[in-house]
Amino acid sequence: MTVRKRFGVSLEQEVFEELERMTKALGTDRSRLISIAAREYLTEKLHFARRHECEGVLIASYTAEVKNDVDKLLEESNLIVSRTHLHSRGGCCVEVLYLRGSSDSVWSLQAAVTRVSRACRYVPMCI
Ligand SMILES: [Zn+2]
Repeated sequence: MTVRKRFGVSLEQEVFEELERMTKALGTDRSRLISIAAREYLTEKLHFARRHECEGVLIASYTAEVKNDVDKLLEESNLIVSRTHLHSRGGCCVEVLYLRGSSDSVWSLQAAVTRVSRACRYVPMCI
């Protein structure tokens, strides 16, 4: 059985209302949902805290004006196992990349792509 700790949390009204909607939609309770969200956040933020052989999916969305910058970053990288480039209905370029390599290199590529992207997210598969 998992030991649970209780503490008070205050949320912005808008976040609280979203949380309420989500708990109802998922048929769970606030504590369980916040626990899941906190675990996912910590996993994502702590992933690069230790060096390791990493692999995962990088998703980035960016405007056509920076396509050459992104192409240069990706072409210079030796991390890419798979690359899919497509266009969103909103006219953005979207990259879906499967990366494999040292966590330091993955972190650097993610940071560089993030700097020129509208949105960038890395989802590790090496948990
Ligand atoms: Zn990793």
